[in-house]
Amino acid sequence: HEAAIFALERTVGDVVALLETVARKEQVRLSYDPPGESIAVQLAEGEVKQILYNVIRNALQASPAGEVVRVEVRPVGETVEVEVIDHGPGISEEIMSRIFEPFFSTKQGDTQTGMGLGLSVSRSLIDAMGGRIDVESHVGAGSRFLLTFPRRAQAM
Ligand code: ADP
Ligand code: MG
Repeated sequence: HEAAIFALERTVGDVVALLETVARKEQVRLSYDPPGESIAVQLAEGEVKQILYNVIRNALQASPAGEVVRVEVRPVGETVEVEVIDHGPGISEEIMSRIFEPFFSTKQGDTQTGMGLGLSVSRSLIDAMGGRIDVESHVGAGSRFLLTFPRRAQAM
C-alpha cells in the first residue's frame, strides 16, 4: 500500500459519515468535532480508513440506544491521536487479554455476530505503520480506544 499525503481529520470525517447511517439505525449518536487546524499525514489512507472503521464500528455496536460515541482527533508532537470513546458495557480483564487475538469475538448472539478480526487486523496495520492502539475500559462505564498514528509511516 502506497503512503500518500492527506488530511487525517478529513479522512476521519469520511469514516464517521460512512458510519452515520449505521449509528442512526442503532439510535446511537456519533459525535465528531474536527480540529481547527488541518493535520497532514503521510500514510496508506486505505489502511487508516480500515482501522478507523473497525474501531468506530465496535464502539457503535457496544453502545446502547440513546448513547453517544465520541471521536476526537488531536496532534501530539510527531504523532496524531484519534480517540474513540463509548459508554457501552466496558471490557472485563479476562476479555481484554484476548480482544486483539484473531477470531476472538464475543458477538455470537442473536443480535450481533462477529468474525473477531477487526482489532487483530487493525493492530497489525497500525503496528506496521509505526503507530499503536491502546485501550482503557471500565466495566459498567465504557471504553476508550486510543489510536496513535505517526505523521509519516516508518521506512520498512
Ligand atoms: P468483532 O467485532 O468481530 O467481535 P473485533 O476484533 O472487532 O471483533 O473485536 C473483538 C472483541 O473485542 C469484540 O467481540 C468485543 O468483545 C471486544 N470489543 C471491541 N471493542 C469493544 C468496545 N468498544 N466495547 C466493548 N467490547 C469491545
Ligand atoms: Mg469488530
